Amino acid sequence: MENIGKIMSLYVHIPFCVRKCNYCDFLSSPASEEMKEQYVQALIHEMEEKREIYQAYQVESVFIGGGTPSTLSTEQMSRLLGTMQNCYRILRDAEFTVEINPGTVDREKLVAYKTHGVNRLSIGLQSADDGELCRLGRIHTFDEFMETFQTARELGYENINIDLMSGLPGQSRESYRQTLEKVLALKPEHLSAYSLIVEEGTPFWDLYGEGSQENGSGERNIHTEEKPDTEESHDLSLPDEDTDRMMYEDTDRILAEQGYHRYEISNYARTGYESRHNTGYWKRHNYLGLGLGSSSLIDNCRWKNESVLAAYVNQNGICEKKEQETLTTQEQMEEFMFLGLRLMRGISYQEFDNYFHRPIMEVYAAPIQKGIAEGLLMEVEEGGETCLRLTKRGIDVSNVVMSDFLF
Ligand code: SF4
Repeated sequence: MENIGKIMSLYVHIPFCVRKCNYCDFLSSPASEEMKEQYVQALIHEMEEKREIYQAYQVESVFIGGGTPSTLSTEQMSRLLGTMQNCYRILRDAEFTVEINPGTVDREKLVAYKTHGVNRLSIGLQSADDGELCRLGRIHTFDEFMETFQTARELGYENINIDLMSGLPGQSRESYRQTLEKVLALKPEHLSAYSLIVEEGTPFWDLYGEGSQENGSGERNIHTEEKPDTEESHDLSLPDEDTDRMMYEDTDRILAEQGYHRYEISNYARTGYESRHNTGYWKRHNYLGLGLGSSSLIDNCRWKNESVLAAYVNQNGICEKKEQETLTTQEQMEEFMFLGLRLMRGISYQEFDNYFHRPIMEVYAAPIQKGIAEGLLMEVEEGGETCLRLTKRGIDVSNVVMSDFLF
């Protein structure tokens, strides 16, 4: 990991959604118009108050995420983006992403984002099947997504990510394949494809989590008022492990056939369109989080912002840092390894040496040799460098492999 000096990324959190999806444990919720406005004002204040501290840093990427940033009005988002541009030294060629969800965005909003320098959109689709979308509690249909996507293209957005999920209730391998096909027909530049994780505290946990009685027998549907007629006899269980694995393998194969390369465990791109912002996270570049609950990593110091909305707003965006810590060299090494191994390129031995001034084998010979012996890791010579990367089998059990690198 190279020393990149005074460069950082910006993450801005917008914690609002029209309603909560059934699987979601992100820091997001519906809110009144009044609360949204108070939040925008607090966020602008935070941006302004912190500007001096970060004047030495140039911003290589910006990500406005959520929640659903596109729930803000055009005027609110214009104020936020304008303030950000005034306060921070955003590089002319910075990657500048806004996360949007169909059903919350129109032409006017997309025009305003573009006017303020946004050059990448990340659209939450998840599935092209309206029944699956309904069961997830998404607020939109596939047609509404299509409208959003096409409007974005008409307006000249040339870098678009689409978020997809597999392993959904009632999803078959065939319906997932159809989702992939419909999405690939649009030729997006980037795709994120995650398997559903049933998180505690979500409606899905009650249906499908550990200890749930029916484990997805299909007895209940959460948004029954929106249940399409066609679902009456639909099996709402989660796909079994084998089907889930096949969907996962289909993703890799079908996307590769269509010219997308996997550059991270769950992320695929056309060459040159890998997310610079997320790659920065995996490479441990500096990032400053603004807004509710956002995390920061600046010069190996890590902290989180206030995550209670009322407290954040009441303190006008200037709250005490939470969970602040300066990472020890050991902690930096651990992060270097488990974040770096997420990237398909893997970890460069030379970069480890440059960063820590120690050969990697002096620190990690045992887990590296074990991983190679078990067929989970491999050493590859690339561009005159030795890299350590996960094998195909290693990707399947990546959490186990990565845990070997914790001290
Ligand atoms: S739109 Fe995204 S952030 Fe909002 S509730 Fe749904 S999954 Fe969560």
